[in-house]
Order: sequence, then C-alpha cells, then structure tokens
Amino acid sequence: MLCKLNKLSDVIDYQLCCGCGVCAYLHPEFISIVDVPAFGRRPRYTNFSFDSSILKDAMQVCPGICLAHSKNVFNQKGLIASLLKNWGPVLEIWEAHAADPEIRFKGSSGGAITALALYCLEQENMTGVLHTVPDDEKPYCNKTVLSQNKIELLAGIGSRYSPASPCEKLYEVEKALQPCVVIGKPCDIAATQNVRKLKKRLDTNIGLTIACFCAGTPSTNGTLEMLRQMGVGDPNCISGLRYRGYGWPGMTTVQGENDDNCYYQALSYKESWGAILQKYRQWRCYICPDHTGEFADIAVGDPWYREPQKNELGQSLLLARTERGRQIISKAIASGYLMGNIKEAKILVASQPNLLKTRGRLWGQIAALKLFGVPHPSFKRFNLFSSWLFHLTFREKIASVAGTIKRIYRKKLKNRVSFE
Ligand SMILES: Cc1cc2nc3c(=O)[nH]c(=O)nc-3n(C[C@H](O)[C@H](O)[C@H](O)COP(=O)(O)OP(=O)(O)OC[C@H]3O[C@@H](n4cnc5c(N)ncnc54)[C@H](O)[C@@H]3O)c2cc1C
Ligand code: SF4
Ligand code: SF4
Repeated sequence: MLCKLNKLSDVIDYQLCCGCGVCAYLHPEFISIVDVPAFGRRPRYTNFSFDSSILKDAMQVCPGICLAHSKNVFNQKGLIASLLKNWGPVLEIWEAHAADPEIRFKGSSGGAITALALYCLEQENMTGVLHTVPDDEKPYCNKTVLSQNKIELLAGIGSRYSPASPCEKLYEVEKALQPCVVIGKPCDIAATQNVRKLKKRLDTNIGLTIACFCAGTPSTNGTLEMLRQMGVGDPNCISGLRYRGYGWPGMTTVQGENDDNCYYQALSYKESWGAILQKYRQWRCYICPDHTGEFADIAVGDPWYREPQKNELGQSLLLARTERGRQIISKAIASGYLMGNIKEAKILVASQPNLLKTRGRLWGQIAALKLFGVPHPSFKRFNLFSSWLFHLTFREKIASVAGTIKRIYRKKLKNRVSFE
C-alpha cells in the first residue's frame, strides 16, 4: 500500500487535491484544470510526453502534499499569544465593513475583501486583483480573472461555495506591470506563498494576499443538487447564481434566463450551506489544518459571535496576520475605504467555534490514516496534538479516530479514484 505521495498523480488519485491550480500555472504545457462534478476542479494532463520528474517543482508547492509554517513566522513581534497555537499568527483583529454602501450590501459579510482590494488598486498603485467570478457561460461554475477597477471587482463579490482555482492564473500577476492583490481560500494562498519562492518576478508582483476563512469547498454536484431543490430544471438555462450577499448573510438566489429570479425558491444560508452544500465537501477539506488563512497577509471571515439581526447590514471579521496586512488595514480605514474597530482575541474564538473543533479533530484523523496506511498530506508546525488534546472532549477524541476509519471505507480512501 502506498502511503507516501511520490507523484503529482498520487495527490489527485487519492483525493488530496484541493484544486488550487498552482500546478497548471507552473506547467501550462502539460496540465489544465477541469471541473470534475463529483470532486472539484482537478488537474488533467493534456500532453503525456514528459517525464514525471519534471513536475518536481509542482510537488514542492502543492498544498495537497504539504503545508508548513516556517520556523520564524511565530517569532514576529506583536503576535497575539493566546491565539498562536490554534489560529496561527495574528497581530490584530478587526470587525469592519466596506465604507461604500454598495460594496457592503453586496459583499458576503461586510464587503471588506472587496473594499481592501479596491483600496489597493486606487491608493497603493497596484494594477490588478486576481480573484474568482461566476463563469458567464455556466453561472453555476467559476472562473479566475484579474480585475482592474470597481466594476470588475463587483462582478466577483460574494462567496461562491463551489470549486475555484485562482492559482491557475498566477501568470497574470507575474506578467503585470505593477504589484497585484491575490484573493483565495487558505489553500490557494498557501500555494501562492509557496510558489512565489520559486518565481522572482511573481514574488515582486504580489502586493497583498487576502484569504477568506473556509470550512470547505463543495463539489459542483453540491451546487447542482441545491439548484434542483430550488426548482431549477435545467442548470444550463440560468443566467446567474448568488450563494449569499445582498444583506448579511443574504439569501442564495438564482436568476432565470431573463435575469428574473421570481420562479425559483431562494434559500437561506442555513438551508443552502448548512443543509445541502457542506455535505459535498471534497475529502481534502475534511483534513485541512488551515481554515482561517494562516499564510495570508489578511484573513477575512464572518463575525458569527452574534446572530445577524433581520435586515442587518454586513460586518466582516479581519485578521491582520503580517505587518504588511496590518498596515494595509489601517491605511484603508484612514483613507475611508473601510470602517471598523479593533476587537479582542476572544471575538475570533467566539465567532468560529466549529473551525476550532475541526482543527482539533485533525491529529486523531491523521493518526487513523497513518494506522491504515492511507496517503495523507504532511502538516508542519500546526500544533495539532495540542489542539486535539485540549479542545476536544473525550468522546470527540475517540470520534476523530473512529469517524475517520469509517470514512476510509465509505470514501474508498485506500484506492485510487478514476476521474474519467
Ligand atoms: C468555500 C468557502 C467557505 C467559507 N467558509 C467560511 C466559514 O466557515 N466561516 C467563515 O467565517 N467564513 C467562511 N467563508 C468566508 C465568508 O463566506 C466570506 O467570504 C468572508 O466573510 C469575506 O466576506 P467579504 O464580504 O469581506 O468578502 P467579499 O467582499 O464579498 O469578497 C469575496 C471575495 O472572495 C472571492 N471568492 C468567492 N468565492 C471564492 C472561492 N470559492 N474561492 C476563492 N475565492 C472566492 C471573490 O472573488 C471575492 O473577491 C467561506 C468562503 C468560501 C468561498
Ligand atoms: S492541490 Fe493544487 S497543486 Fe496540488 S494537484 Fe491539486 S491543483 Fe495541483
Ligand atoms: S477547507 Fe482547506 S483545503 Fe478545503 S478548500 Fe478550504 S482551505 Fe482549501
């Protein structure tokens, strides 16, 4: 039984790919990213005339193989000590929202990501923002674009709970004339930080990284099931799909062929994400150590420490994870792009109790995978044992191991998956 990941195809076949797309950025001549509806966006070889050793650099940066904090990241001055072990490096926590009422209203939580990106374009001399927007041809799928102004940024506002591969277009950032912002899920940003070490020009051109918090990416089949439950007969006939936003957390809505949404049932966030989509998360998300963007300059999620009131305007929870991130947040506030207040560390813990439990389970999950010889990524300097020991009850500890053993068989994790 193979336990070590020796080739990039092992990552894909054993369901450890998260679909970041960075391998396709490094090797566009051999790899393109395609949507596999039951799993997610996955690399497909377009040309087999290469020796697999050529993909060594992709294996070096692939978040399906390894995620590792560097030794000195925890030595930064000013880190919040109480958060270090379970949440990674955090310098400051803000509850904030876009000052622009349109961005705030349309944004997933408070439009903070879009407001920060706009600030960088307009005030920091950056030239583009690499991020995710709906695919015009198939609005239930996504594509990656480099946006250059507010109108283009607004086309991608709001979270999309479906596969997206922002890193596949890092070449847009590499060839840009000025630095750019890169927005993605935590694994996308980890891949971006890894690959910039190999590409000098890309490194110079990454002006800021922003990660959204992420409990997991559901496959396209998840979205298709959601659309079915909303009354959509043919998903190819819709002209738009919004998972949330337009209020906080906002409703999941479908626009019909004529931009009309009155025929389809809208779903609340609890109904769409809670009851349908989260069941379709890819396997790599079940064993993810980083749900809060530990490798980004700024990470953004929802301040769920309180229930949003009816018709409440949105708020985002921002973590400044590097000095660069801290400065950009404070300058965006000073120049009127963001409005908000610094918060205490306990707000993060109260806002994301599920993500703390999820991280807590990981040491038990990996132990079960090792015991049964199932391939898994390696995670370095995440303090997983201490999260497992101190943040799970005795029952939860047992369940972290037993639940994984069940999944090994239910998800056939010992076998290679065929994507054909
Ligand atoms: C799959 C997923 C799971 C999430 N899980 C959680 C969670 O468990 N807890 C939590 O607090 N928050 C979670 N979030 C983040 C949350 O939904 C908001 O994105 C976050 O609060 C920022 O809101 P905002 O209004 O500031 O962002 P906005 O201003 O609305 O900007 C959102 C940005 O995210 C980009 N984006 C949208 N979808 C994707 C995608 N699939 N992949 C990469 N980039 C994307 C857009 O292009 C846009 O630039 C999740 C987001 C996603 C995409
Ligand atoms: S996780 Fe990213 S780099 Fe690794 S195989 Fe998947 S798409 Fe490629
Ligand atoms: S849960 Fe982790 S692996 Fe899955 S999409 Fe989110 S950041 Fe990536």
